[in-house]
Amino acid sequence: MKIVVLKFGGTSVGTVDRIKKVADIIVKYVKKKYKVIVVSSAMSGVTNDLVKKSKILSQEFDRMEHDALVSSGEQVSCALIAGRLLHLGYKSRSWTGWQLPILTDENHTSAKIIQINKKKIVKFLKNGGIPIITGFQGITLKQRIATLGRGGSDASAIMLAKYFKAKKCVIFTDVTGVMTTDPRVYKKAKKIKIISYEEMLEMSSLGSKVMQSTSIQDARLNRIDVDVKSSFVKKYGTLITKRKNIINNKIITGISSTKSDAKVTLVGVKDKPGIAASIFKPLSENYINVDMVVQNISADGKETDLTFTIKSEDLLKTQKLIKQNKQIKYRELIIDKNVSKVSIIGVGMITTPGVTYRMFQSLSKKNINILVISTSEIKISVLINKKHVKKAVSALHKEFKLEK
Ligand code: ADP
Ligand code: ASP
Ligand code: MG
Repeated sequence: MKIVVLKFGGTSVGTVDRIKKVADIIVKYVKKKYKVIVVSSAMSGVTNDLVKKSKILSQEFDRMEHDALVSSGEQVSCALIAGRLLHLGYKSRSWTGWQLPILTDENHTSAKIIQINKKKIVKFLKNGGIPIITGFQGITLKQRIATLGRGGSDASAIMLAKYFKAKKCVIFTDVTGVMTTDPRVYKKAKKIKIISYEEMLEMSSLGSKVMQSTSIQDARLNRIDVDVKSSFVKKYGTLITKRKNIINNKIITGISSTKSDAKVTLVGVKDKPGIAASIFKPLSENYINVDMVVQNISADGKETDLTFTIKSEDLLKTQKLIKQNKQIKYRELIIDKNVSKVSIIGVGMITTPGVTYRMFQSLSKKNINILVISTSEIKISVLINKKHVKKAVSALHKEFKLEK
């Protein structure tokens, strides 16, 4: 069987008119003799709305009920797509994750798929059916619905492509592909024709939400080529593939930025072994992800300052946990809610000296102050005041000639 997995994002199924277009795209693949497996996200805005409702009822809404709630949007869009295909004369039906089942681990709100039962889908495909499967969700061994983290339909699509040994996994979205940077932040962003898993992974985990980062990790581990393209305009998209397939002549491939980070500084922390661990342990136990961490070298060997960043939505809980923590002593707690992380990403920087200097120089020319720095082999991130993000992205886009 020549199988293709087609995934449609929220905007692509955002209205009934768009669902008609989605059904037409599906039919085109069927006519090309593909066996098509469709994965759909919820109609745009639906998941956000459900999350908002849960927060009004409780700031710490039960994680399992949260998953039961927010997974519901996908059932609607999948039934609408299947209904439209049936109307057009094709055999189709919708499936929710638990009906297959798609098994996940128990890490509610950001679970991972551990197995997919293929039986029902294989039978349906063999009988000429087009299965429409809800993205973003599965079921745990304890029979509770679990979701795969925001943007998780990407992971559903890639894992289905893996289990069904699909020839292709195509991600249909509202942009024409992966761009050098978020086109909503910088209009002159250019489409990247081909990008390595490693670079895409960095871009998405550093803020480019065009692909969910877990999904890219799954694609990389399973060597699945992923096509990202628009469901609105007919144009080639971006191919995400292994590094070996790519001839690269650019130092930087893309720029990512985050929208809502917060910086927390503990001033005058006692400088003794184990102190950082006792600060971060309760945060990790409460599912709070700590990102950048800097600890100043203690001038007198007694006290130090510790700075770290988290997502803004975790700030209240973080402040509460730090204040409750009897194991740590500090003089002052300073919070900065107005920070963002801007990162440049590219395998080209491994072999090119002076990239860090060029990044810092171009930011300083725009009078942008760098608060925290972190680097890896293929990325350099800086934390800056949120109000400078657009200016920083445009300066870096020009500095590394991404417009060309
Ligand atoms: P979908 O609902 O189709 O999954 P998402 O909203 O999750 O779509 O992702 C697409 C959005 O990602 C785009 O509208 C764009 O604003 C944003 N985005 C961020 N960074 C990039 C990038 N580097 N390239 C393309 N889009 C990006
Ligand atoms: N509907 C889910 C979300 O908004 C999953 C997805 O879009 O992939 O996060
Ligand atoms: Mg998405």
